[in-house]
Amino acid sequence: MYSDFVDFVRKIYNTKDFIPLHAPYLQGNDKKYLNECIDSIFVSSVGKFVDKFESLIQEYTGVKKAVVCVNGTNALHIALKLVGVEEGDEVLTQALTFIATVNAISYSGAYPVFIDVDKETMGLSPRKVKEWLINNGEIRSDGCYNKNTGRRIKCCLPMHTFGHPVIIDKLVDVCKEFSIELVEDAAESLGSFYKGKHTGTFGKIGILSFNGNKTITTGGGGMLLFQDEMLGSHAKHITTQAKVPHRWEFVHDYIGYNYRMPNINAALGCAQMENLEFILKNKRETAQYYKQYLSNDLDLTFFNEPLCCESNYWLNAIILKDQESRNSFLKFTNDNGIMTRPIWKLMNKLEMFKDCQTDDLTNTIWFEDRVVNIPSSVR
Ligand SMILES: *Cc1c(COP(=O)(O)O)cnc(C)c1O
Repeated sequence: MYSDFVDFVRKIYNTKDFIPLHAPYLQGNDKKYLNECIDSIFVSSVGKFVDKFESLIQEYTGVKKAVVCVNGTNALHIALKLVGVEEGDEVLTQALTFIATVNAISYSGAYPVFIDVDKETMGLSPRKVKEWLINNGEIRSDGCYNKNTGRRIKCCLPMHTFGHPVIIDKLVDVCKEFSIELVEDAAESLGSFYKGKHTGTFGKIGILSFNGNKTITTGGGGMLLFQDEMLGSHAKHITTQAKVPHRWEFVHDYIGYNYRMPNINAALGCAQMENLEFILKNKRETAQYYKQYLSNDLDLTFFNEPLCCESNYWLNAIILKDQESRNSFLKFTNDNGIMTRPIWKLMNKLEMFKDCQTDDLTNTIWFEDRVVNIPSSVR
């Protein structure tokens, strides 16, 4: 029943071999810059590629300051710390996300609250966030509090699922109205724009990931995005052991972190950035192929980029009729050498987060039962 689909994927990737979900594209100057980095001896915590990579991302996303991190999860940890999330606070986020989002909240000693996603975006719903805040929030002189738990609601952390932007301008408004900080988990959305503006640049801080399966990779890596240059400089300081610049003295003025990306990873990042436009164009073409092919399919529905958005189509997603057909689709495709994966198990169903507050999660649960990712590598 799904064999036509398998044939179609083989046709667009032009191979009889196993087809992975998302392989990195390493055909550019990747080896060249890695060699250059090794020849320079500066493979570790200082070097020109770190600064270059930061300025390339700054230019591309249009932020005032970009700060590299060892990975996206660490970047999230720092971002939450910098907006003032403290032990005992609450952070509003989606249950439909990768574990890193919620782990970072836990590192800060804060409690995640899971709010529903929108049907059009698969990301945090501004309408549902507002609804939840009207019912549970209370604005006091020093911020927004949860009437039921007595905890401060410090931050809202939306995630642009599979590269599809959430309705971020509406979330900005809701956060403003309730005096809540906004941090964007844009780990999956490098190259995704909302109304022409890059994702991760609407909140006080945004973060990107360059893990091996993301749109571009540095092996492992992350980036903090700031519109506030001062805050960005402070982030640079605390992610590099908070060392006060001096020719020989070791003076540190803060409990800092060793979260800086090594130069050798940044070398890879510089090479990857040269191919970003090509990668995005190629991925958009793949998405169009899927979309066109699936337009006549009654069982599989292609998930399209939301209105007013340009999505990077990081991972293409399709929607099955129900959980049963989802499972048989997963089995058939994986049995036939086409890697497909269901969307994540909901965060509130994991042992560590099972007692967290949620709203009704209507759309979230609907997506969990039906969404499958299909091969999305550069062809
Ligand atoms: C990839 C990812 C991250 C960061 O992951 P790292 O592997 O630590 O770079 C964070 N959030 C989401 C939603 C992700 O997909």
